[in-house]
Amino acid sequence: MKYCSDCGQSIVVQVPEGDHRERYVCAACDVVHYQNPNMVVGTIPLHHDEQGQPKILLAKRGIEPRLGYWTLPAGFLENGETSSEGAVRETLEETCAVVENVAMYRVLNVARTNQIHIFFRADLPLADFTTTPESTEVELFAFEDIPWRQLAFPTVHKTLEDFIDEYHQGQFTAAMFDIDHHSWKVLDI
Ligand SMILES: [Zn+2]
Repeated sequence: MKYCSDCGQSIVVQVPEGDHRERYVCAACDVVHYQNPNMVVGTIPLHHDEQGQPKILLAKRGIEPRLGYWTLPAGFLENGETSSEGAVRETLEETCAVVENVAMYRVLNVARTNQIHIFFRADLPLADFTTTPESTEVELFAFEDIPWRQLAFPTVHKTLEDFIDEYHQGQFTAAMFDIDHHSWKVLDI
């Protein structure tokens, strides 16, 4: 950040009085421009086909970052919406799919990229979806067909792995993990 979004004057980096971290501070109007983590919210849309086989809806990213890789539908939470509302909205925007019965499943702290990802379990009653400006392909995957090596983000990998494990166990447990963005490893917490 170089210029103040309030008054347009130059920004300096300094520790404001009473604070303990360096911040972007406007030298002219003294406004402190705080930078805080972003929330990414998404769903695990689960559909059962006519044979009763469980399938998960994935989208192939049509935009950077990770263009061309598969992801669960997810995106940045907007001001004024709850995390589950944001997850349902992102699912609709990226895949045109309408999900219901959303339930919190995974909170994943990605401290190195200043993000927190929240994924919700969700039912996808109708196999009704299509590509969008954000997704070049949208497809239902049987568990054994998940493209593990072409997933966009470690948080998607961890969430899908846990979801499929717990689906087979017959019980879902909401949980939180810390993710090392570089190694895609779950950190011990
Ligand atoms: Zn200013």
